[in-house]
Amino acid sequence: EDVEIPTLGELRDRLNPKLWELLTKASAQAKQRGWHLYLVGGAVRDLLLAKEASGSLLIQDIDLVVDGFHKAADVGAGVELAKALQQLYPAARLEIHGAFQTAALLWHKDPELDSLWVDIATARTEFYPYPAANPEVEASSIRQDLYRRDFTINALALRLTPPRAGKLLDFFGGLLDLQAKQIRVLHANSFIEDPTRIYRGVRFAVRFGFKIEQQTEEYIRYAINSGVYDRTTKENHKTPALQTRLKAEIKHILEATYWQAALELLGDLGALQCIHPSLKTLDEELLRQLRLLERCLRKFDPEQTLLTHWQMRLEAMIAYLAPAYRAKVAKNLQLQEDSIERLQKLAQAQIEITNALPTCQLTSQVVKLLRAYDLPMLILVALHSSRPIRKLLWHYLTVWANIEPILNGNDLKKLGYKPGPQYRQMLDELLAATLDGEIRDRTQAEKFLAQHYPQ
Ligand code: ATP
Repeated sequence: EDVEIPTLGELRDRLNPKLWELLTKASAQAKQRGWHLYLVGGAVRDLLLAKEASGSLLIQDIDLVVDGFHKAADVGAGVELAKALQQLYPAARLEIHGAFQTAALLWHKDPELDSLWVDIATARTEFYPYPAANPEVEASSIRQDLYRRDFTINALALRLTPPRAGKLLDFFGGLLDLQAKQIRVLHANSFIEDPTRIYRGVRFAVRFGFKIEQQTEEYIRYAINSGVYDRTTKENHKTPALQTRLKAEIKHILEATYWQAALELLGDLGALQCIHPSLKTLDEELLRQLRLLERCLRKFDPEQTLLTHWQMRLEAMIAYLAPAYRAKVAKNLQLQEDSIERLQKLAQAQIEITNALPTCQLTSQVVKLLRAYDLPMLILVALHSSRPIRKLLWHYLTVWANIEPILNGNDLKKLGYKPGPQYRQMLDELLAATLDGEIRDRTQAEKFLAQHYPQ
């Protein structure tokens, strides 16, 4: 099949003009110094996927690679280029990561570039003792950079500097895969090396509506069957970094609108076992709980002000595990302290609530029982509860939890009660009486107080 390669002009017409201008300036700076500059990774992919010449594509993650040196001094090229660009764009913040010879320029809510993040790396090859105008040398060093990447569609590079500006470097058939709409890994042991790539692959597949290419799928299954969980959790110096990246990928997926389709695909591949081996698939019951959770989130926290929704989804998945595993998995994935604690205490809370709730005769007793738990805990408990208990929890959260005593501390003072610790008890009793329908207005409340707390 013939693949159509867009010209530089066509690519320009797809991109936001300010972003294009930035790339042009970066390219000019590199050229002045005798270097080559490439746009690589996701930005090239997105640029090729954006077919229309809308002139509006504003990619927020730009990866640039500088290459083509002939002086040892040029190993810091990425950093130098970033510094030169920052002179031209004072609004951008410069970050330098010395150890890796990479730099980043960051814009925050810029009127034109929005929250743009430009990473500039130096191709990690030895410099050459002869001029790098030689295209073969050029190819070998950027090729190495691309070869370390995850999927063919992410391993494309677009040359920005002349000569041959606009040339697409496609060593692994990424363009064909883009056209065939498939996710193909670069090498056989890729997922063994880095299991988070399984989650990345799924994310790209679902996001773009691509298929995971068959051989790639076999590599994924092989990696999973070779004990992916043990490898990702067994203590060694690489584990924390791996878990951090796994969490980042899970977050990425659970934040996306397509989270459900992604989890289903992860389940089909057996890849949820990276979280815990007992998560063989995304079964009906877990799916039901996750959907129930969505309803809770929409109802109780539609603006995402109380809870972090992706985190609640992850907590619900971990809560689905047997109680003995929960805290350990939460710790492995480096969840926040409060999440870990909640998952640790969930089983106990579940027992307490399941046992005590049916014995409550009065609304005030329900409120007194449930007040001891926070919203996310009650949501997790609800997911694991029978319908009648869930209904009570729901009613508590929507109605009873919001009822306040008819009088407040100020009112008590005006009524002549001496401020002190007994206020708490008086207000509690007033609230209970209100919840239980004994008092309905101020007069009744005052009468209630006169009876129980005569002065
Ligand atoms: P998105 O649009 O979701 O940000 P992206 O492709 O830009 O997608 P990033 O996570 O920003 O994704 O990664 C940038 C590039 O770095 C990728 O295109 C890929 O080439 C490479 N990359 C990222 N993570 C890995 C990994 N775990 N293994 C190999 N290459 C990776």
